[in-house]
Amino acid sequence: ADLAIPGVRGLTPYLPGKPIAELERELGLAHIVKLASNENPLGPSPRALEAVRRILPELHFYPDGGGFELKSALAGKLGVESAQITLGNGSNDVLELVARAFLSPAVNAVFSEHAFAVYPIVTQAVGAVAKVAKAHDGSRGSRYGHDLAAMAALVDADTRVVFIANPNNPTGNYLTRTELHAFLAGLPEHVIAVVDEAYFEYVAVADYPNALSWLPEFPHLVVTRTFSKAYGLAGLRVGYAVSSPAVADVLNRVRQPFNVNLPALEAAKAALDDAEHLENTVRLNQAGLRQLGAAFIARGLEFIPSVGNFITFDLKRPAGPVYEALLRQGVIVRPIGNYGLPHHLRVTVGTEAQNAVFLAALDRVLAA
Ligand code: PMP
Repeated sequence: ADLAIPGVRGLTPYLPGKPIAELERELGLAHIVKLASNENPLGPSPRALEAVRRILPELHFYPDGGGFELKSALAGKLGVESAQITLGNGSNDVLELVARAFLSPAVNAVFSEHAFAVYPIVTQAVGAVAKVAKAHDGSRGSRYGHDLAAMAALVDADTRVVFIANPNNPTGNYLTRTELHAFLAGLPEHVIAVVDEAYFEYVAVADYPNALSWLPEFPHLVVTRTFSKAYGLAGLRVGYAVSSPAVADVLNRVRQPFNVNLPALEAAKAALDDAEHLENTVRLNQAGLRQLGAAFIARGLEFIPSVGNFITFDLKRPAGPVYEALLRQGVIVRPIGNYGLPHHLRVTVGTEAQNAVFLAALDRVLAA
């Protein structure tokens, strides 16, 4: 570790959960409910599955390194040019491309406390300074949102990137059109603004912005989205950035030529065509958010109102033992101490039945 660059020495690895099969063996349980990684409980679109099956005999070929067809399909759907799109091995990959292209040990990136865990990783991995703003205290009843004024105050002559997740993970809250637009308009021209919309498809509130519509106005805006969440393709790893063609050109210079694999390209194209699966996904999520929200209220548990596919709730005590006890009940949720929220747990919205299993397990654990 001593040989690593200083930024890397200071990092803690992103902690993935144990494999489910391993946990089932360890705990002697036949069936574990995993509500830990904001995956789609309906699974992938049947059309995506069929596309993967169809491409399997072609696996000896490299994928299209330019992602021509997927980019065309996305461009058509989003109303942008293909030259504005950068494909990634998950949107994490695109976040890393931004860091590799625009950050260095001489400059800094700004993001918020309780923001997505990959921002510090990609920033420090290239030796850049991470400037972390304290979270919001007040607006719309949330103590955990991005404090845009605090973030703006950290931006200086050496800032090259600002990362904002909207909605944010793990807090589930969002910035309104007015708030985010004012912030972007106030950024200096030497700053790339990344608006991470990993949960875009789930959001159903009227004042949520579609940041893509601002690309003509803000040439340094990068909007990232993913097929991992609402499109149910987390295992295949495909995400993308939409930006000006000039920024996309820079991102593509540092991109590995075959960063998105062949089944992923095929599945993503097919998933884009399956509007029905997406609608079912979003509808199920809305019902699940209501189910879990009502259950938290009934139990007197405080939670952060979420527009994503997960809810973070407050145990008012160290969450680790509750997480462990839930695990022994066969339910995996996500402890978020690494996000600076050691008293909270994040639960992914599952099917109605999965949510009920989680709530029953929670009741047993909290009663014990
Ligand atoms: N951004 C946010 C805010 C996320 O929560 C996630 C997934 N945890 C990602 C990006 C990355 O997702 P992926 O790499 O699977 O596209």
